[in-house]
Amino acid sequence: MTKFSTETFKLNTGKEIPAIGLGTWQSGPGEVGNAIEVALKNGYRHIDTAFAYGNEKEVGEGLRASGVPREEIFLTTKLNNPWHKRVPEALEASLKNLGVDYLDLYLMHWPSSTDPSDSKKHYEDWDYVNTWHELQKLVDTGKVRSLGVSNFGITHLERLLSDPNTKIVPAVNQIELHPANPSPKLIAYLKEKGIHPSGYSPLGSIDSPLYRNETLKFIAESKNLSVAQVLLLWGVQKGWSVLPKSVNAERIKANFDLDNRDLTEEEVAKIDAIPDRFKVCGDKWLPIKVFFGDDE
Ligand code: NDP
Repeated sequence: MTKFSTETFKLNTGKEIPAIGLGTWQSGPGEVGNAIEVALKNGYRHIDTAFAYGNEKEVGEGLRASGVPREEIFLTTKLNNPWHKRVPEALEASLKNLGVDYLDLYLMHWPSSTDPSDSKKHYEDWDYVNTWHELQKLVDTGKVRSLGVSNFGITHLERLLSDPNTKIVPAVNQIELHPANPSPKLIAYLKEKGIHPSGYSPLGSIDSPLYRNETLKFIAESKNLSVAQVLLLWGVQKGWSVLPKSVNAERIKANFDLDNRDLTEEEVAKIDAIPDRFKVCGDKWLPIKVFFGDDE
C-alpha cells in the first residue's frame, strides 16, 4: 500500500519531484489562483504551469495565498516557443510573473523555435538544440534547480544528447501519457537515459473519452474509486508523475485522495491492454512537425 500523497520520484539532478502535481492549462483567470490555493491547502506540493498558459501571475497569487512556504513547493514552468532566442529574458519574465526567485523545473515547452514576428515561421538558423545550450547556462544562476524538456520524441532526444555541446541530460520529459497514448518505446528510452517522464493530460483532458471506457469503469467500480482516480494511480504506478488539471475544489481533492488505493498488477496489466488510441495535443498549430507517429 502506497502513500501517493507524499510519493516522489528522484530526478537525475538529485531533486525529488512529487508524484501528483496540479495542472493549469486552460485554468482561466479568476479560477486558477483559487485552484492553486485549494490544492496546496489539501496537500499538493507540485504545480505545473507555463508562460504560454497566460496564467503565471495568478498562479503566483495562489501560491502566496496558500501560506505554504515556497521551499515546500515543486514549481514548474515552461519556455514559450517564440522565446527560444531569448532564454534569460524568458526566465526573468516567468519568475517575475510568478513572484518567485527560483523554479524547481524549467522545461522547454516544445522542440519548436518559432520566429516571434510570425507564429507560422520556424527560425532558419536556430533550433531546439541551440535553445537547450542556452538553457544549460541558467543552472549556474541558481534560479533553476532542474532543467527539462517537453513534447520530445526519441528522435529529438537522440539528436540533443549526441550533440557535443550538450552537457546536461534533461531531468524530465513532460509528455502526453494516458492509457490511450501510453508511448512504451519512449518510456523505455527515457528510463534508459535517466530522464523522468512526467505525464500530461493524464485524464485524457477536456471531454475525455476515457470515462466511457468499460475496462476503466469496471476497475473503478470494483474498487470504489472514480475513473479519474484509476487513471492517476495507473500513471504513478507505471513510474511517472501525473499532472491532473482541475479548477473544481472537490475534483482537486479527489484527484489527490489516492493513498493506499494501489491497483493490483493485474489491474495495471488490464489497463495496459486497452487498445483505444487518441492524442490530446497535436502539432498542426506549430510551424514544424514534432510528432512522427508511434512514439518516435
Ligand atoms: P487532464 O487530463 O488533467 O484533464 C483535465 C480535464 O478533466 C478538465 O476538463 C477538468 O475539468 C477535468 N477533470 C479534472 N478532474 C476530474 C475528475 N476527477 N473527474 C472528472 N473530470 C475531471 O488534462 P490537461 O490537458 O489539462 O493536462 C493536465 C496538465 O498537463 C495541464 O493542465 C498542463 O499543466 C499539462 N499539460 C502540458 C502540456 C505540454 O505541452 N507540456 C500539454 C497539455 C497539458 P475541471 O477543471 O472542471 O475539473
